[in-house]
Amino acid sequence: MKRDFYEILGVPKDAPADVIKKAYRKVAMETHPDKNPNNKAAEDKFKEAARAYEVLSDPAKRQRYDRFGHQGVDGPGGGGGGQQFHDASDIFEAFGDIFGDFFGQQQGRGQRGGARGGGARRGNDLKYIMQIELKEVLEAQQKPISFESEQDCKPCAGSGAEPGSKPETCTTCNGRGQVVRSQGFFQMATPCPNCRGTGQMIKNPCKTCKGNGRVAVEKKLLVTIPAGVDNGTQLRMTGEGEPGAKGGPAGDLYVEIRVKPDDRFEREGSNLYAELEISYLTALLGGDIEVETLKGKKNLQVPKGAQYGEQVKLPGEGLPSLRGARVGDLVYLLKIVFPKKLNKEEEKLLKQIADIKGQSPGKDKSGFFGF
Ligand SMILES: [Zn+2]
Ligand SMILES: [Zn+2]
Repeated sequence: MKRDFYEILGVPKDAPADVIKKAYRKVAMETHPDKNPNNKAAEDKFKEAARAYEVLSDPAKRQRYDRFGHQGVDGPGGGGGGQQFHDASDIFEAFGDIFGDFFGQQQGRGQRGGARGGGARRGNDLKYIMQIELKEVLEAQQKPISFESEQDCKPCAGSGAEPGSKPETCTTCNGRGQVVRSQGFFQMATPCPNCRGTGQMIKNPCKTCKGNGRVAVEKKLLVTIPAGVDNGTQLRMTGEGEPGAKGGPAGDLYVEIRVKPDDRFEREGSNLYAELEISYLTALLGGDIEVETLKGKKNLQVPKGAQYGEQVKLPGEGLPSLRGARVGDLVYLLKIVFPKKLNKEEEKLLKQIADIKGQSPGKDKSGFFGF
């Protein structure tokens, strides 16, 4: 026979949420496995209280429990989604925030992978996405960047304890940061719920970092981007990532390049491609055409008799390669544009040409012009 949840927590049926929370903390503290080693009865009570709290702290579940009793919140179909707490670490996972303050822990503690616990730790690697213009690929660039990072809090030297005080060894795990729990035949080591694996407790948290041991700082850097970078090129800046904790080495900063698309040019490796519209006369007679390149206006020589889709290059007007080998070309794909209308003079002259070629309109049997 299951015990009544209200009875387990020792609260009246109309108890408000904060009373239920307080009552649960009290029961959980008394029956905590670390305080009652090898006491099966206490462990059962600890789990029972967690289940009671799980239901009574959730308004919907509590309502179902009030109407239908245990059936309303148990098992499949009960709609309860009843959580099965197998061991204490499940419970800490579910209600860690409650235990957090009742074991005297400070907010934010251990959230950053235990920055404060133990000794030196390498800072995290950071990634910075940098957008550049296609034009900037031509030459090495220096660009200032700024980003937020974390470093050890200066007043407490990263300990999280107010200057003058010291973090104390966690009494639950004796500073090991882990506790071993038995479950059936198994013994499992889990992070200590009291200190969240840091092995230390702070009674008097540092005011600057609120006991976290780390503070956010703005880092400013000048990044040198070599010529020839491409989308996705990663530049590694050793030691420019997040500062290490307690004298540990800093992480690295990875600057990832994104080259903004330029609608005039298509990039393929170190070559650039562009379309160029020319008149049918330029195609036939050839000529110099002013074109745009990344470095400004240049003259492009269109050969006589150029064909539609033909490629005409400006050697060396592409992009440098990152490895410093050769500079690419700027390649123009020719598109020949025919006029939709001719003036009288043009028409007369073109008809003369057609006569010469024996291709006057109406006389051309093949239907093709043989240029
Ligand atoms: Zn501990
Ligand atoms: Zn501090």
